[in-house]
Parts: sequence; C-alpha cells; structure tokens
Amino acid sequence: MNKLDCKGLTGTVIVPGDPEYEQARQDYNIAIEQYPAIIVYCFDAYDVANAILWSRAQGIELRVRSGGHNYEGYSNGTCKLVIDTSPMNQIRVDVCEETVNVQAGTRLLPLYECLYEYGFAFPGGTCPTVAISGLVLGGGIGLSTRYLGLTADSLLEATLINYEGRQLTVSDDCNAELFWALKGAGGGNFGVVIEYKFKLKKVDKITLIQLRWDDNKAARKQFLQVWQNWLPHLDYRISMFGGITKTGAWVNSFFYGTREEARYLFQPMLDIPGLTIENFQYIPFIKAVKKIGAIYPRQEAFQAAGRFVEEKFSQDELASLVEIVDRAPTDRSSSIRVYSLGGAVRDIAVDETAFAGRQSDYIMAIVSSWEESSEEERHRQWVEAGFEYIYSITRGSYINFPYGQTPNYQLAYFGINLRRLQAIKEVVDPYNIFSFPQSIKLPL
Ligand SMILES: Cc1cc2nc3c(=O)[nH]c(=O)nc-3n(C[C@H](O)[C@H](O)[C@H](O)COP(=O)(O)OP(=O)(O)OC[C@H]3O[C@@H](n4cnc5c(N)ncnc54)[C@H](O)[C@@H]3O)c2cc1C
Repeated sequence: MNKLDCKGLTGTVIVPGDPEYEQARQDYNIAIEQYPAIIVYCFDAYDVANAILWSRAQGIELRVRSGGHNYEGYSNGTCKLVIDTSPMNQIRVDVCEETVNVQAGTRLLPLYECLYEYGFAFPGGTCPTVAISGLVLGGGIGLSTRYLGLTADSLLEATLINYEGRQLTVSDDCNAELFWALKGAGGGNFGVVIEYKFKLKKVDKITLIQLRWDDNKAARKQFLQVWQNWLPHLDYRISMFGGITKTGAWVNSFFYGTREEARYLFQPMLDIPGLTIENFQYIPFIKAVKKIGAIYPRQEAFQAAGRFVEEKFSQDELASLVEIVDRAPTDRSSSIRVYSLGGAVRDIAVDETAFAGRQSDYIMAIVSSWEESSEEERHRQWVEAGFEYIYSITRGSYINFPYGQTPNYQLAYFGINLRRLQAIKEVVDPYNIFSFPQSIKLPL
C-alpha cells in the first residue's frame, strides 16, 4: 500500500513492511494468523472518526480492536483496516460520585489497580490483559459477578463514534435503545466505543478461595454434581470459575466476606473427597485479583467455546461430560470449565439489557490450548466434538466465548433479543459498516 492511500488517516498508522507490523497484527490467540491491510492506533475520537470515514471512502472493510482477546480473532482480519483503540487508556475516578470514566483501550489490571487505590472493587474479568471494551460490550463475567452483577450492569453511559464519524453519547436517558444493545451485544456491531462511565462499589478485603483435586479422576463427576446442585441457592457474595480435566478438578472463587464464613459456606465443595489444595485467604481485593490474573500467559494458541446452562444435567449427561475430558489431547491444558452466573445477574429483568444469558445458572466452556502447531488439529477436533455434545444439552452461547462453528450463531448469542438488535442495527449502522464473521446482520 502506498503512502497516498493513507491520506486522511490520523493516529499511528502501521502497514505491511513496517517494522512494527508483525507485532501489531498479532492478537492474544496466536493460533490465528491474520494480515490486515492497515492498522491505525487511535489516540482520540478524531483518529477514530477519520479511520471510519477512510475505510468507507477506500472501500476497505474495518474491524474494531481494543485488547485483541477475541477467541476467533474477530477484531482483526486479513486485508482489513483495524481500528485499534489501545492507546486510549485513561481512567478518571470521581470519588464523591462513586463513578469512573474509562477509555476504550484500557486493560483490566491497570483499571483494577487504579480503582483499588480509591477503595473500589470492579466487576471485571479475570485476565489482566483483556480490555474493558470487548469485556463490557459482551456482558462481562468474573469473580465478583454474583455480588456486583455483570460488567455491563455497572455501565451508566458510553460514548461512541458511529458510521458517519459522529460522536454519540448513550445512556438510559439518551439513545436508550443503542445503550440497551451495547450491554451484551455491542462488540464490533454498532460503532467504535471510545469511553465508558461505570458506577462503583467500595471494597476492602475479600476471601480468595482456591481448591484443587489433583490426580483425582473420581472427583470430577462429583465436582460437576455439587456445582450444579449448589449454585442455584448459593450466597450472592460467592462467584466461582472452575473446571475438570483428564486428571482432576479445580475451583477459584471470591467471597465478599470473611475466611471463617467462606469455609462454612464452602462445605459442600470441601466434602468432595481427595482435596489436594485448600486455600482460603482473607486478603485485599487487589491481591486476590492479581493472584488469579497471574495464572494467564501473555499469549497462547487455543480454541474454546462457551454455552449458557439453565437446567441441571442428568447423571448420564454428567458422565458424558467426564468422558469428553477423558478423551482430551492433554492432561491439563484441555478442560471443560464452568463460570457461575445467577445472584445479582438474575436480579435484573431479562429485557433490561441485550445479554441473553441472564436466566442461566452458569456458563460451560470447552477449552484446549497447545504449544506446537503440529498438535493444533488434534486440539481443534477435540473441541469440535466436545462442543457438539455440549451444544446438544445447552441453550445459547456466550458472545465473549465465541466459536466460529456455532450453528445459527445470531440466535445462539442473542436469543429472543435478536429481532430488537437487528432493528437497532438497521437504524444505527444502515450500511453494515461494522461487521465481522459473526456480527449482527441487517434484517432481510
Ligand atoms: C485469556 C482470556 C481470559 C478471559 N477471561 C474472561 C473473563 O474472565 N470474563 C469474561 O467475561 N470474558 C473473558 N474473556 C473473554 C473476553 O471478555 C472477550 O474475549 C473480550 O471480547 C475481549 O475484549 P478485548 O477488547 O480484549 O478484545 P478484542 O478482540 O479487541 O475485542 C473483542 C470484541 O469487541 C469488539 N470491540 C473491541 N473494542 C471495541 C470498541 N472500542 N468499540 C466497539 N467494539 C469493540 C471487537 O470488534 C470484537 O468483536 C477472556 C478471554 C481470554 C482470551
């Protein structure tokens, strides 16, 4: 691409051949190789608007990227213009109002750190390098979800740049339909969000709980059984992520209360025989966030998919899930994972946001990661076969754990909200400028 083609673009522009290109084109999931025509690092609304208008004038499709953690690489694309908001990472806390303004490219760890300095928690995810944009626009779950709600449930306002390069502010009082859509279905579909405003809640210490049943195959079915029976009635102050592998089971949790109370409440889990690690630590919220965040690598090659679970599985279904991990390509890096919902998530009416899984008890994901590309096919096939079974016993997919092979993806991600979202899409993005392989389509 020659220099003239870039006229009208502002910000930092990277094209193939530039020394920064190789790193700039790579996202978190290094199994996905994409070669964008041009990447624009945007520093403000002006850069974003120029990039949108440039893409339309040149007829080069755009993608919107913040943290680059989309499982399937939908914030990137070969021969596309990537609008990257990562340089926009300012955080402004209003202590009196108990709110924070966060720019679109802000990563979770700096956000948690900044907020904790003022004594606030945040209902974000667990990976420190995920950016706020993809997280909140898909709903956003984490280890505070059952107590504080989805990330999107704390959103008060967002500012975005639309297909005409115009700046819009959306909230319950202004552009309310679009605001509704952004809370669960906003990633890459309606415009480029540049800033968010969230309400906050004070926090001090919490209890971090980490339990493991290593080299304990028998614990796996019991874990899934306890998980599904326990969760619907569980104390709101507990949120958990856990899972099973070929060799054992684990769970990580935050409890907004003391260690003693946590131990008492966790008795059903502690009763599963063969516990190898039992850790209850009453520590500052930020320490707990960092301990969980330290689990994640800087980048990895993986395939994953996540589904909402509304009903209890039968004994046969639980046994089939265990059989799936028995066939996993690796002992530890292939797993079926579970992420708690319910609690505060269910307190909000189903039609109040576009997040389709509000009635679910939890999300079930199948995940596999590998180091050598020679192993890739084996892992992908395992995820595909496992997903086929999990798909058959669940209803609806979590948009932030997307899977390219999901049948009828729009219905899977958006359920009963699909028609309303398509109607909003028609008004807000009439020329379908904001599209990607699993974006919301204009109504026929
Ligand atoms: C290791 C790992 C851990 C994770 N942990 C959690 C977790 O604990 N909880 C959870 O809920 N999810 C989790 N996720 C999923 C994560 O929330 C999603 O992948 C999320 O979409 C990533 O956001 P991002 O901005 O980093 O990614 P990106 O790939 O940049 O963007 C993701 C989507 O949002 C769109 N988008 C990005 N920026 C903007 C913007 N400014 N305006 C409009 N659209 C935009 C993109 O086009 C794309 O469709 C995890 C993912 C990974 C890889």
